Amino acid sequence: MRYDVITVGGGLAGAALARALALAGMRVLVLERETRFRDRVRGEEMHCWGVGETRALGIYDLLKSSCARESRYWSVRVHGMPMVPPRDLVATSPHRCGTFSVLHPAMQEVLLEAAAAAGADVLRGAQVTGVEGGRSPTVRARIGAGEQIYAARLVVGADGRDSVCRSMAGFEVERDADGMLVAGVLLDGAAAPDDTTALFVRPDLGQLAIMVPVAPAQTRAYVASAVLKEARALSGRGRLPAFIGAGIAAGVPAGWLDRAEAAGPLACFDGSCRWVAHPYRDGVALVGDAAGATDPTFGCGLSLTLRDGRVLRDRLLEGEDWDAAAHAYATEHDEYFGAIHRLTGWMRALFYDPSEAAASVRARALPLIAAEPDRRPDIVGLGPAFPSDETARRRFFGEI
Ligand SMILES: Cc1cc2nc3c(=O)[nH]c(=O)nc-3n(C[C@H](O)[C@H](O)[C@H](O)COP(=O)(O)OP(=O)(O)OC[C@H]3O[C@@H](n4cnc5c(N)ncnc54)[C@H](O)[C@@H]3O)c2cc1C
Repeated sequence: MRYDVITVGGGLAGAALARALALAGMRVLVLERETRFRDRVRGEEMHCWGVGETRALGIYDLLKSSCARESRYWSVRVHGMPMVPPRDLVATSPHRCGTFSVLHPAMQEVLLEAAAAAGADVLRGAQVTGVEGGRSPTVRARIGAGEQIYAARLVVGADGRDSVCRSMAGFEVERDADGMLVAGVLLDGAAAPDDTTALFVRPDLGQLAIMVPVAPAQTRAYVASAVLKEARALSGRGRLPAFIGAGIAAGVPAGWLDRAEAAGPLACFDGSCRWVAHPYRDGVALVGDAAGATDPTFGCGLSLTLRDGRVLRDRLLEGEDWDAAAHAYATEHDEYFGAIHRLTGWMRALFYDPSEAAASVRARALPLIAAEPDRRPDIVGLGPAFPSDETARRRFFGEI
């Protein structure tokens, strides 16, 4: 059978897109290697503009009634800056909503089921081993002991930050040399507020911690560090005391973590950005982390992934020329991914660089940001719609 679209991967990117395209009447195949999703330590906090994308894709109610909680408040404490009350996101974000906190494996199951219910063929335990572009692109998959080849009008690589689809289809990957190391673990019993995502920043240490309430009495905690070797050691459950120590050093109140226990793996990742310029060629488009994985420290990955799905769906539904439609998606992707890449790069340079040179820039910029908070990119509310031109850059760094 020849499909309209095959997605390689059934994570957030593949499943959300497959559902949307199947609902629009297309014949869609999802090839997902996992038969059961497990905690991979990733992707729990979805910014307000990403929640806006769930509405555009028609999955807001589905997620909210199954695996997502809406956190109304966003709290940031930056060491060396005056304390400010938590931001009420419902009152102040352009989408008039909080952030979503999700348990990632549960979200993947919910969306894959929804894709199947919408009419997509979903094959689990299907490991993609080959992709060939062209006028009728094909995908080769290993399923059990056998191998199968499928053809489609369009193949979509949605196989995550270490995508093999993109290399098999001949895309070149670019990556930043600098980046944070990010360690995370799901905690039971942390005494963090359940309606607030809390971020703690220690610019002088190049370190931060994030506490995301994902379920009653369950919190996803992350610690990230620009000082590479320290964070690299925060892997494996035996390192939980060191992880908690790093969280407290970043500013998390010790009382929040007194009774915390690991409810899943503790793992550490290289968070440096990697992306493909113009993620479409020769019948193969890339979406989600396969197209561009941003530094997880800034929590934009889920929102960008949904933006990709929505934009590609809309372009494909506009007409019969899918080659032109997929090129149009890729051009748009470069713009919004580029904006997030610039904005998060500025934030990393100002807030997570412990060097003396960066400290002197902070001495100039932080008082100005405290007096005029709109100098700081609104990554949570506006995302890529926040200006990222030279004037915005100079305002952020206190040069004007
Ligand atoms: C430590 C960490 C923390 C993060 N925290 C946040 C956060 O708080 N907020 C946020 O917005 N983003 C966060 N992110 C980013 C977020 O997790 C990703 O942007 C998001 O999961 C991307 O979804 P995806 O579907 O593109 O990729 P994935 O979630 O990786 O899904 C890819 C799917 O493809 C399947 N697959 C892979 N290879 C094959 C193959 N050969 N054949 C078949 N199937 C295959 C995989 O099994 C998987 O199901 C974080 C990332 C990391 C690493």
